Amino acid sequence: MSVTKEKIKKLNNQLKKWSKEYYDNDNPSVSDQEYDAVYNTLLKLEKENPEYILEDSVTKKVGGSVSSKFQKVTHKYPMLSLGNAFDEEDLIKFNKQIEDVTHDFNEIEYIVEYKIDGLSVSLIYIDGKLFKAVTRGNGIIGEDVTENVKQISDIPEVLNKKVDIEIRGEIYMKNDIFENLNRNGNNFANPRNAAAGTLRQLDEKIVKQRKLSAFMYSIPDSINRDIKFQSEAIEYINKLGVAINTDYKIAKNINEAIEIVKNIIQLRDKLNYVIDGIVIKVNEIKKWAEIGFTSKFPKFMIAYKFPEETATTELIDIFPTIGRTGRVTYNAKLKPVRLAGTNVQAATLHNADYIREINISIGDIVRVKKAGEIIPKVLGVETKRNKQIWKESKICPACENELIRNEGEVDQYCFYEDCPQKNIAKLEHFVSRGAMDIEGLSIATIETFLNNGLITNIPSIYKLNDRISEMLDLPGFQEKSVNNIINAIEKSKSQDLDKFIFGLGIRHVGAKNAKILAKRFGSLEKIVNASNEEITKIRDLGEKVALSATNFFKDDTNKKMLKQLIDLGMNLKEIAAPISNKFSGMTFVITGTLSQTRTFFSDIIESNNGNISGSVTSKTDYILAGSNAGSKLEKAKNLGIKILNEDSFYKLLEKENHE
Ligand code: NAD
Repeated sequence: MSVTKEKIKKLNNQLKKWSKEYYDNDNPSVSDQEYDAVYNTLLKLEKENPEYILEDSVTKKVGGSVSSKFQKVTHKYPMLSLGNAFDEEDLIKFNKQIEDVTHDFNEIEYIVEYKIDGLSVSLIYIDGKLFKAVTRGNGIIGEDVTENVKQISDIPEVLNKKVDIEIRGEIYMKNDIFENLNRNGNNFANPRNAAAGTLRQLDEKIVKQRKLSAFMYSIPDSINRDIKFQSEAIEYINKLGVAINTDYKIAKNINEAIEIVKNIIQLRDKLNYVIDGIVIKVNEIKKWAEIGFTSKFPKFMIAYKFPEETATTELIDIFPTIGRTGRVTYNAKLKPVRLAGTNVQAATLHNADYIREINISIGDIVRVKKAGEIIPKVLGVETKRNKQIWKESKICPACENELIRNEGEVDQYCFYEDCPQKNIAKLEHFVSRGAMDIEGLSIATIETFLNNGLITNIPSIYKLNDRISEMLDLPGFQEKSVNNIINAIEKSKSQDLDKFIFGLGIRHVGAKNAKILAKRFGSLEKIVNASNEEITKIRDLGEKVALSATNFFKDDTNKKMLKQLIDLGMNLKEIAAPISNKFSGMTFVITGTLSQTRTFFSDIIESNNGNISGSVTSKTDYILAGSNAGSKLEKAKNLGIKILNEDSFYKLLEKENHE
């Protein structure tokens, strides 16, 4: 495969992974700017090499998917994304492209609106009553979140007029509410993720508590209602009694729009909500159809995106913390500084090598950026002061055992099993959203409970029900918050098995491998009762992972803990058992273009207890190859692996059927 083609594929996969974290899990691992930078690289490569554009390119589709938790609703008009502008030049180009289409002698009038960083929603009113509220989803099909939306006071259930109308806009969370939420036990990366995470969950009571807000800005069929301008549409929404953002401005031409953009950039930090850009729209709706759309966004509006925000402040101290695997992370204590709508007073410095590389000392003025993750990052020194030279820590700050750095490794570790900080991190991981999702058990609460002997390990979380009066004695804990914690713990007993396995924090077992293990064993009881031999058979996980999982499940202390959890009423959702063992112990690689999707074939293989692997190795039993199969097929041939086409695949399935 050509280097460019390979690169395009790699970038697309990376962006798909980040999109999944962002849209489906509401938990991004990189900043929007990092995402946009990679997206733009892909866009450029695709422009230069259109023959390599992938069918599933992120540049061609609206990001996001539809969760099976909600009813699906097909949008009457697709809900699209927006094209991006990053500087003045991009805005001039945008205007020029419009002028080239409209051939208008007059200048184009624009409306300049804040780009609210939330999630878009479509409200359908029938006879003035809220009938349905639907998320953007994949742009074509969205999720029915009506009951949740009814909890948002900016969105009335009954309009001021008895009309049938669809209104679209953004649901968001105000900064002060977001900060309060995270102070009280949540761990959202930013207000957008908090808003999306809140709206896309099933308990409408939580939505009500979290006080989401909304700004509505669009009527998709304005043109049929004799609404001539976008500004008129906004005012009509206002008249109907739905919240709008009144801070929009009209610009006579693109230059005026650019001036308005510059002013907003100065103002954005003063708002009590996050705007991640500014949307510039052709104000006259009649022109929209003429200017048109791409498959992903309308060409008559564009989002000017802000550059990544950074700030400078004093580095007060550097201190190490210990993660659940014992790994040391160095952190910066900072003089509080306002950044991207939040107060920042701590930032990550990663490891000792990073500190040496950026050459910082305590007292220096440093530059900090807020990335997608919750903890901001120190980028480097702004003014050197050298007040106090930093020295690498030699002992663990929590248990005072020696920190070890293995030969050739960057990170230092605390290997003491009962290190209290490791314990906190393990419990924090167990209750986190990707694992057991126990809301209300924040790091601070876990620490308080540990310090007061209310919890010691994972099973003790499930015994908290017997210690309610002790919890109520703690400062800051009231009946309501304690009840919420107890209910969340109870609810987690029926969490998915793979999320539970992930929560155990077994080294090398991330979310994906946890799923494989969950599929393999089916239930917690089966894991506990599995013989050592059965456990060792988990070969599709790769040697390192299999060894780590084997050691964990073979360990007597761990077995005891799992048995204890079963006795405490753990009732995890099992993964459907395979319909047969026909392909048991066999590993398949699927490659090339087939008559059905790869998922179609992998479902057949997995439901017959076979394994799917992404790469061809000596452990591969079969390669199912469609047309245009490339390097994997070559490698399979070289290794003498059996090659199947669709016919021989079905024959094998039948043959195994008769055996
Ligand atoms: P977008 O957020 O760039 O723009 C489209 C959205 O803007 C619309 O769907 C609408 O909801 C919203 N919007 C807010 N105010 C608006 C207004 N006044 N008028 C019109 N629309 C308004 O596009 P997207 O497709 O939702 O998301 C792509 C972006 O999301 C990327 O550019 C990136 O910044 C971010 N992202 C980040 C990650 C990550 O890992 N950090 C992953 C995927 C996407």
